[in-house]
Amino acid sequence: MKKDPHLIDANSQLEALLNAPGTLATQRPSVDHAQLEHHLGEALKLLYVDLENENVVDTPRRWASSLIAMTSGYDFVDFKKLTTLFRKACTAADENCQNMVVIGGTYKTLCAHHILPFFGHFIVGYIPEHMIIGASKIPRIVEVHMRRLQSQEHLAHDVADTIATILEPRGLAVWMGGTHLCMVMRGVEQESSFMETNVLRGAFLNDERTRQEFMSIVNRRGSS
Ligand SMILES: [Zn+2]
Repeated sequence: MKKDPHLIDANSQLEALLNAPGTLATQRPSVDHAQLEHHLGEALKLLYVDLENENVVDTPRRWASSLIAMTSGYDFVDFKKLTTLFRKACTAADENCQNMVVIGGTYKTLCAHHILPFFGHFIVGYIPEHMIIGASKIPRIVEVHMRRLQSQEHLAHDVADTIATILEPRGLAVWMGGTHLCMVMRGVEQESSFMETNVLRGAFLNDERTRQEFMSIVNRRGSS
């Protein structure tokens, strides 16, 4: 099948935006690396870390670089432009594609409260109304939102909101399950700190069978 030239164009525009310096790429010209490095060094000194020690002498610089990379999702100020481009990269749904579409993957992000990682799996299900989106696009949407300080609840809602804006599907479900290091390493120090989040909309909320179909996929895949 010959590919629609408009679709190829929309896809390359989207890739260009996602990979532009200062977006999901790790360089962020807008962030003052030197200032950040200085303040992180000061924070370590307040914790009585000896910055002369050869093991940590370069840590403020490395810490600054990794924080800049892990928060690059903040550079997407123009969400309207992003969702418009995602929209253009979708294809029309015909009567043959009215079934539930399920796409899964992994995520990793930083908790907004303790700046410690949490990570796990996501499963997105939707029932198309007008449009379907390429399977590889859903992980890109998750990627934009995970590179911010997050809670699992907010992350799942952000992903759901973005997909809903792009696709306006008949139903939408986002499941996330993750391990939270802020629970493993501090506070209650629970080794089994697995948390699940479910966002259900439209047909997934109103139709018991649709919801059960999705949850059985989650039970088969999510916990494996
Ligand atoms: Zn936390």
